[in-house]
Amino acid sequence: MDSLPIPPVARDRLLFTPGPLTTSLSVKQAMLHDAGSWHHEFNAVVQWIRERLLAIAGVSRDTGWECVLLQGSGTFGVEAVFATCVPPAGEVVVLANGAYGERAAQMLAQARINHRVLRTPEDLPAQPAALEAALVANPAITHVFAVHCETTSGILNPIADLGRVARAYGKSFIVDAMSSFGGMPLDLEASGADHLVSSANKCLEGVPGFCFVLCRREKLLASAGWARSLSLDLLAQLKGFERNGQFRFTPPTHALLAFAQALRELEQEGGVPARAARYRRNHDTLLDGMRALGLLPYLNPAFQSHIITAFPFPPAPGFAFDTFYRDLCDRGFIIYPGKLTRVDTFRIGTIGRLFPTDIEQLVHAVSRVLPTLDRRAKTREAHGA
Ligand SMILES: *Cc1c(COP(=O)(O)O)cnc(C)c1O
Repeated sequence: MDSLPIPPVARDRLLFTPGPLTTSLSVKQAMLHDAGSWHHEFNAVVQWIRERLLAIAGVSRDTGWECVLLQGSGTFGVEAVFATCVPPAGEVVVLANGAYGERAAQMLAQARINHRVLRTPEDLPAQPAALEAALVANPAITHVFAVHCETTSGILNPIADLGRVARAYGKSFIVDAMSSFGGMPLDLEASGADHLVSSANKCLEGVPGFCFVLCRREKLLASAGWARSLSLDLLAQLKGFERNGQFRFTPPTHALLAFAQALRELEQEGGVPARAARYRRNHDTLLDGMRALGLLPYLNPAFQSHIITAFPFPPAPGFAFDTFYRDLCDRGFIIYPGKLTRVDTFRIGTIGRLFPTDIEQLVHAVSRVLPTLDRRAKTREAHGA
């Protein structure tokens, strides 16, 4: 039998990516069970997770919020909100300054939902004043969509200011907080969001398999009859949980068991403030180390999150991303390619089960690999290649 193309490494490489990301051994071990998706013990875990997620956001069912878990990656959650909550004649304005804003626009086009896109350059946050002007000029708009941390660059968009504008004009506000939820403090009530989407495998440090949407109950109940999809129908999914505590279709049981452990570990760490402080230390360690190597981040620090950082390719003539990536990989570190449209960058995520000492080791590896890239390129030149 052919062997699987997975290299035999004694220890997993560290993932400096925005998800899937490095998880703790105990989170991985929590998956070593086959849970029955009908069984009351498993349903109790699901119920506990839904309540914990609301608590992490500082809200509860008593204050009018619901947490709906949904199979699939984060993209499925964003698409589910559009498919469920935008009325047939609704219109969405998408604030875009990176790939995830653009992906939302693509979903809306695919679902033939009226929308317009309000773009800012990839290195500038979304502008509340521009949103206000769009809402004044286009009263047919029913929904505003924004990305909290646009993972393309790591830029933070001013969610609370955008939410204030959306509320002032009576619009529903949908927030993609995929890469930020749990990794930085967020006041959900104050953010003005009606629907907030995130997933298991980002700052909550679970494994991939499902996403979740925190919704104002009244907004979700008001969407009865609008769903454009069966499997992505969030209201039906909520009703399923209310009816028998179950997912409507096969749940990712192992990922849910891992997630319950990941939430316990978040609590043990000291909750979101402590986790945010660790990610901030990771980020600061990264920036200090890279600066010493002459590598400066792409973004203005005023807009930069501590989630992920984009670095323009160094001007060294010998720099080739593929070689850089492979050499770091050989040393046990997985970084992330760039996604910006106008500048060549690579990205380094500082979330997941990573600590400042891991970042120091990565920076050390970068310091060893960079000069060899240049040397090898010079050798190639000397040989006329
Ligand atoms: C990760 C991410 C998503 C979802 O991506 P998936 O690959 O579907 O998990 C959406 N928005 C942002 C900002 C993200 O970082």
